[in-house]
Amino acid sequence: MGAAYSSCSSLSLAFPTVTLYSSPITTSSQSYPRSKPKPFSSTIDKIRNTRFLEPVKIMAQTPFPCSGLAVKCGKVEEVENQEEGTTRKPMVDYHGIDQVLLDEMVYDALVWSSLHGLLVGDKSVERSGKVPGVGLVHAPSALLPMPFPENQWRQAVDLTPIFSELVDRVSLDGKFLQESLSRTKKADAFTSRLLDLHSKMLEINKKEDIRLGLHRSDYMLDEQTKLLLQIELNTISCSFPGLSSLVTELHRSLLNHYGEVLGLDPKRIPGNNAYGYFVEAFAKAWTEYNNPRALVMFVVQAEERNMYDQHWLSAVLKERYNITAIRKTMAEIDAEAELLSDGTLLVGGKAIAVIYFRAGYKPDDYPSESEWRARLLMEQSSAIKCPSISYHLAGTKKIQQELAKPDVLERFLDNKEDIAKLRKCFAGLWSLDDPNIVKEAIERPELFVMKPQREGGGNNIYGADVRETLLRLQKEGTDGSAAYILMQRIFPTVFQTFLLRNGICHKDNAVSELGIYGAYLRNKDKVIMNDQCGYLLRTKTSSSDEGGVAAGFAVLDSIYLT
Ligand code: ADP
Ligand code: MG
Repeated sequence: MGAAYSSCSSLSLAFPTVTLYSSPITTSSQSYPRSKPKPFSSTIDKIRNTRFLEPVKIMAQTPFPCSGLAVKCGKVEEVENQEEGTTRKPMVDYHGIDQVLLDEMVYDALVWSSLHGLLVGDKSVERSGKVPGVGLVHAPSALLPMPFPENQWRQAVDLTPIFSELVDRVSLDGKFLQESLSRTKKADAFTSRLLDLHSKMLEINKKEDIRLGLHRSDYMLDEQTKLLLQIELNTISCSFPGLSSLVTELHRSLLNHYGEVLGLDPKRIPGNNAYGYFVEAFAKAWTEYNNPRALVMFVVQAEERNMYDQHWLSAVLKERYNITAIRKTMAEIDAEAELLSDGTLLVGGKAIAVIYFRAGYKPDDYPSESEWRARLLMEQSSAIKCPSISYHLAGTKKIQQELAKPDVLERFLDNKEDIAKLRKCFAGLWSLDDPNIVKEAIERPELFVMKPQREGGGNNIYGADVRETLLRLQKEGTDGSAAYILMQRIFPTVFQTFLLRNGICHKDNAVSELGIYGAYLRNKDKVIMNDQCGYLLRTKTSSSDEGGVAAGFAVLDSIYLT
């Protein structure tokens, strides 16, 4: 999802954003024109334009006077840039920040989050995942942005449209998807159901002329080699396009106010308009569907404490484009949906133009046959699915591993430069068919991560458990091993950080994972959108293996370019 971060000021976000990049990033083979943004007219835009136009002023209204702060806070020092070897740029020793200043910043960050909708449902309040406005708490976030080298940031941005094109091409090769996942099918019941759905679509020769992908490619920066290595490519239910944009604004706002005393420049935080782009993608897809009465449908979980991230998208879609989005669970869709003979999907009697999945990616989302019926009905319809079953399967970990094999990318992409760029970011990926790798992983389990075909965090196997699981699978000698892939473990650079959770600031050492969102929309041969569209930085304590924010391991963060 493409690189025009600058367009956030005119497209959607009304904060006084500072722009680092103003030209859309394109693949080396194609350039994709961007449409003219609509003028502001919405309530949300107005609120953000007027009430929060000057974050610095808001800060000044907090109970803590900001002038006359001890300048000893935040030891500012010049460090050598390891990439270039020559440029010297300022870095802050976050843990050296004066306690009084720290308390002020924490207070300001909590106020800012509450006033600007950087919120999630509070676990301790029972109805917080069901009823909006009940039991809100600030989203877990880092207090200050994480240093990230500009070269690798640009590299990640540059890769995005190439990955989106790759997903599209892979999705069209039904045979490749079925064959690559055939052994996994035997070992994993959930993947098997998804593949059955996909087979049914192949049997009826279902064509998706209009294809919408809202992806996120996640990376870690390997400390030793300084290589940007891909963790995974998400093609379904990529979370935080709403809140990640806000956390960027939070950090810019803090640095507008405290940057001088910290020795940090807010302009070094790249703008992040993820939700503006997501909404633009929905609106463009809706236009392609060409039924002015049709709605966008968000497929959601019955309980969702991350609902505000989703509501940012639907609210802005309504305000900016006057397109209505409804929220339905899979069970509700099963009860209320019908398919007309021309393929139109009606839900509660209303035609659906775009289906956006924020559920349906894990077994828990299918507690009964009802949910599978709903998924099938949606897949059979002419509505634009984000994602279709083919896009969903193209984002599985097994396909990631297959694509990393020699000569496989060449089946899908023509441009050699693009192929080389993708390959450069692939970490070591193996199936468990390879006895040498399995032997190595048993001997040195700390160098590997073992991954089942699951999404949403908390499913991977690390350390001694890798050895134990591999030995057990060897003993059992069945197809069980086909449920997993092995991946080289990446060891990112550890930085000092402050993590804000539940109103408490935790001082810790942390590592980060950078996700770049990508929007891809095409109608037959016409590529309407293929842009990078904002980013998500998740930061977790360095002692934690897993990384999900919703799963409770990480916090939302933004990047400070070094
Ligand atoms: P999920 O679909 O559950 O998000 P991921 O592949 O993204 O699965 O893994 C979850 C988390 O585990 C990541 O966010 C990251 O923190 C950690 N992780 C995954 N792969 C690696 C790896 N190769 N090296 C180090 N950490 C990893
Ligand atoms: Mg992940």
